[in-house]
Amino acid sequence: MTSSSRTAPIGVTGLGVMGANIARNLARHGHAVAVYNRSPQRTAELVSNHGRDGTFLAAGTIEEFVSTLEKPRRALIMVQAGAATDAVIEQLAGAMEHGDIIIDGGNSLYTDTRRREAELRERGIHFVGCGISGGEEGALEGPSIMPGGSAEAYEAVGPLLESISAHVDGTPCCAHIGPDGAGHYVKMVHNGIEYADMQLIGEAFQLMTGVLGYSPARCAEVFAEWNRGVLESYLIEITAEVLAQVDDATGRPLVEMILDATGQKGTGRWTVKSALDLGVPVTGIAEAVFARAVSGSRDLRAAATGLAGGELATTLGEALPGVDEQSFLDDIHAALYASKVVAYAQGFNQLTAGSEEYEWSLRPGELATIWRGGCIIRAQFLGRIREAYDADPALPSLLLDPYFRDAVEGSIGSWRRVVAAAALMGVPVPGFGSALAYYDSVRADRLPAALLQGLRDFFGAHTYERIDKPGHFHTLWGGDRSETTAG
Ligand code: NAP
Repeated sequence: MTSSSRTAPIGVTGLGVMGANIARNLARHGHAVAVYNRSPQRTAELVSNHGRDGTFLAAGTIEEFVSTLEKPRRALIMVQAGAATDAVIEQLAGAMEHGDIIIDGGNSLYTDTRRREAELRERGIHFVGCGISGGEEGALEGPSIMPGGSAEAYEAVGPLLESISAHVDGTPCCAHIGPDGAGHYVKMVHNGIEYADMQLIGEAFQLMTGVLGYSPARCAEVFAEWNRGVLESYLIEITAEVLAQVDDATGRPLVEMILDATGQKGTGRWTVKSALDLGVPVTGIAEAVFARAVSGSRDLRAAATGLAGGELATTLGEALPGVDEQSFLDDIHAALYASKVVAYAQGFNQLTAGSEEYEWSLRPGELATIWRGGCIIRAQFLGRIREAYDADPALPSLLLDPYFRDAVEGSIGSWRRVVAAAALMGVPVPGFGSALAYYDSVRADRLPAALLQGLRDFFGAHTYERIDKPGHFHTLWGGDRSETTAG
């Protein structure tokens, strides 16, 4: 229950799923926590159900909440992104003083965070846009935390946040990401990578059922086994759990009873929009966002059900003569790993491009470090990414790091067999296919972009560069077709 302490070093407002668990996590770590929620019953429930977690100072009004906080005041907002967050910020800022700190732990769009940080800075209030990953369980047991904002604000909130974050090998999964919107940007790209990772896992499952004829229970065994190797990760672990689940009502595998239309809350879409603006190819994330959109296009899918698939191979032997079941399963594993490397390589390239655009000085190795625990994409793999950036902080792509280069080069045959078999048997694998196409594109000597430049010059006089001399050139397509030097 509430202790005799009358002030708290931090407060949490918005005591829904995430906020209540973060407040409990803080309390369990010995921090008194001021708590306030718009609907008072949530505050009362938190204190009565979990009072034994530590010291909660329940406030009935925002003014009371603010007055309970030690200076500089630290208030963590855990409400829905958008208008609700703006409304709560305004209430808090109205009751706060110069030097106080507002932390937004919701999934806010980084451009909103940049705007809010600038507005509050004008008013003398620090604003920390703080990505938090790990869902409900992570919030309680230790999430991965990505705080942005000023270094001065981090000095005041960092130790508290680090204390409640997940820890891996004694290192907190929380670090100062960079100024203004950096924390929310990094959380956004984290979620985009999560989309890609999940899509690839889904495709591996689809290949096991569609090509090898495995049941969900058999697939669950395979994923559980894969979780003991290089693919070890939270997502692979819970894939095995979900696939093994049997539906109580029907006795069938639960996954067969779930409608195959995936929702999205927006962070994947935001990631791709930002990548388009920056001109960074994040094909793995984009395919994952669009695959969700295809799955959710139920009218289109219903109308297209009867479309012909052509002469499809019906067995693995027909599609790939001489390839047996076990070796194809190994191929799927290798293709999944290689595609995942591509998706992460692209995501980290986006982080680097975003950092350059907004002058955040992000440290990719540090991001991999704080994603090793607490968050949804936590994985052994991230330790390798950290090592890659430790060895070369300016690495142009993870594909060029010696470890990942070897891993991908060793998977190429498998990758091609999987994409080929999928095409021949009519199994859609947009993530695997586009990852392979990206890999082949970046390593290609020549791309068809030369022809595209010729076409653009033909219809729009857009000019082109030549491989043998500097400058910009235009061919007089409508005239004598001689080449001119463009100004
Ligand atoms: P939730 O359970 O739906 O709770 C929402 C909270 O926001 C409630 O306390 C609600 O108060 C409050 N609220 C909404 N509009 C408000 C307003 N205009 N003024 C004041 N309070 C308002 O949401 P959640 O899942 O905890 O998510 C909170 C934030 O964390 C979101 O930004 C979400 O994207 C982010 N997040 C969620 C997860 C996750 O796994 N769930 C993970 C990471 C980040 P009332 O009780 O009065 O309605």
